[in-house]
This record gives sequence, C-alpha cells and structure tokens, in this order.
Amino acid sequence: MPFLLNSELKDFVEQQIAEERARSTNASSPADEPPSMTLFGSIGYSCHLRGDGSVWACEETDPRTAPWTYAWRPAGHRQALGAIKVAARRHPILIALLPQMPDPIPLCLTCHGSGHLTKGEHVFEGVWCQDCYGLGWLAPEAV
Ligand SMILES: [Zn+2]
Repeated sequence: MPFLLNSELKDFVEQQIAEERARSTNASSPADEPPSMTLFGSIGYSCHLRGDGSVWACEETDPRTAPWTYAWRPAGHRQALGAIKVAARRHPILIALLPQMPDPIPLCLTCHGSGHLTKGEHVFEGVWCQDCYGLGWLAPEAV
C-alpha cells in the first residue's frame, strides 16, 4: 500500500528524483527504470520511493547464477518503513511518513527495541533487525 504524499512531500520526492537523474552516471541503469528517489542503497540491494508514494526494492536476483542482474519488486510494509526511517536521517521531511507509535508500544522482542540486529547482549550497529526493520517496535503490516 503506497504512502500518502501530501503536496509538499510530492514536490520533495519529484525534486529528489530530478536531482538523482541529473547526477546519475550509471550507464547500466535501464532506460525504462521507473523514476524514484533512493531511500538507501547497499551492496546488491536498494530501496526507492516513487512519486506515487510506493516503495520499491531493487535486488540482485541471484549473484551466483545471474550476477549484476537486478529486479524490482514492491517493498513489504515494514521494509518500506525501515527504508524511510534510514532516509529520514538525511531528509527529515520523510519523518511525516512514519506511523505514530501505538500506545502501548509493541516493542520488538527480537531487538528489544533497539532496531538493530542483536545477538545476546551484542548490538550490530548499522544492521537492521529483521523483524521490525529498524523501527524498534512492530508496525502493523497493513496501513
Ligand atoms: Zn526489532
């Protein structure tokens, strides 16, 4: 389910898309790649917000059998929220898309509310919890 972008957010996303396109030197980008702003990117995986409010993941399909082959798919809801949370550090305007924390807060038991991958007492900074996607609490799957 796409995020509802108000006119200010829509303008912001369109401006980001235009700026990314202007500075893109990635010749391998397919011409039919849908316009989107990058929320974050990692090795073999990136998340993007389109002007219609939908969040898409672009992933390397299988690096063993088809290296450098990427495919687009709609991001899951929590995955989209996690990507927006990361991008909001650079673009605070995106905070408006994050849901209000419910009361009582359904703290994520996997990461104990940290949002990071944890193993026992050890916290892996920069690696998201796989259950809450970095929020630290469980957002409902459906908006
Ligand atoms: Zn968690």
